[in-house]
Amino acid sequence: MDAASAVDATTGPYTVDEHLRRILESLGPLQPYDQPLLETLGLPLCEEVASPTDLPRFTNSAMDGYAVRQVDIDGASDHRPVTLAVVGESAAGTSRPFAISPGAAVKIMTGAPMPTGADTVVPIEATDGGTANVTIYESRAVGQHVRPAGEDVRAGDVVFDEGTVIGPREIGLLASLGRSRVRARPRPRVVIISTGDELREPGTGLDFDSVHDGNSFMLAASARALGAIAYRVGVAPDDPAEFTRMLSDQLVRADLVVTSGGVSKGSYDVVKEALSPLGSVDFVEVKMQPGKPQGFGIVGEEQTPIITLPGNPVSAYVSFEVFVVPALRRMMGLLPYRRPLVQATLTTDVASAAGKRQYLRGVFEVTERGARVTPVGGSGSHMIGGLAQANALIVVGEDETALNVGDVAKVLVLDRSF
Ligand code: AMP
Ligand code: MG
Repeated sequence: MDAASAVDATTGPYTVDEHLRRILESLGPLQPYDQPLLETLGLPLCEEVASPTDLPRFTNSAMDGYAVRQVDIDGASDHRPVTLAVVGESAAGTSRPFAISPGAAVKIMTGAPMPTGADTVVPIEATDGGTANVTIYESRAVGQHVRPAGEDVRAGDVVFDEGTVIGPREIGLLASLGRSRVRARPRPRVVIISTGDELREPGTGLDFDSVHDGNSFMLAASARALGAIAYRVGVAPDDPAEFTRMLSDQLVRADLVVTSGGVSKGSYDVVKEALSPLGSVDFVEVKMQPGKPQGFGIVGEEQTPIITLPGNPVSAYVSFEVFVVPALRRMMGLLPYRRPLVQATLTTDVASAAGKRQYLRGVFEVTERGARVTPVGGSGSHMIGGLAQANALIVVGEDETALNVGDVAKVLVLDRSF
């Protein structure tokens, strides 16, 4: 097949679900390894974690005060104070093993191990604070202000199942159990290339017909927000040889390549021109709006997956949400792949093209009367200003051509973790 005929080899139309299925079928979870604990934030655990220890590991004091035998202070009061001999002092981290006999106390700080023989802590406020002897003015129940070993976690307890998503609390417990590394999948490295002769780096000047490259920043930010590592490559010009050179340079550090632009039917559709002849990348029409022209395939010696998104900013954003988000979550081993749809009441009528899944920008809010959503920002797929006002996408099904005010719509609430 020559390059010219390959350029026209768009297949489809496919539904959104068909195209997504084809992408997900050719991607798999990355191989897990033991990673430094803090690097695993947001990743799913690839091991079951059983506690190697009791927590607390040793019985210790919950207060600053005196460790005593409760029988020695039983019934103490202002009128009948009890005086004990202070036989030592025990602070967290600078303690030594103490034992106390009848009539003795150890001055103790929060977190210090309880002396053998002591069963209760009298807080310093209930005493005269003495150092050689201490006078105690209030009684305490047996075990009061004492943290028994294992009351929180028992040695051998399974604290996390495989698949648990590691958040700050999980990291806190894992560190407390002595783990410096845990088994998790690496973050996918996503290389993002935008294409177009008209594109210029933000921060640089423009000609009368050029625009700043918004997409690669938006897509890199989206990938990063999802927990992936994003490498934003500068703009590739509309020159197939140059695009191919840039792409091959990048493949060494990519688990996934995402491009924007150059996949329509116009002239200068560089991504299509460069990749169609390979035969391993499919350019397809998808029954969605925005985002009709899509592409997916495998490139390079390492069989790197590539997803080619359309260039209009809203199309690129919606396509990333619909196809790249599930692909990255699959590579990370996160379930579900797709952002769950939530229901919200429409505050205005909306129209939608028949036979296509429509993604409308919306503002989602939860009010006293429930969740509602309001279309925002126009419908043009070039309208990045309108996109920035939205916090949700209203999804109108292939068979629906209109929804009315008061109808319950399906909504993707953006930026939420799931
Ligand atoms: P294309 O898909 O390459 O035909 O581009 C479609 C439209 O999106 C054109 O108006 C492009 O200028 C615009 N566009 C493409 N890539 C970007 C980008 N990275 N940032 C902003 N606009 C873009
Ligand atoms: Mg272009």
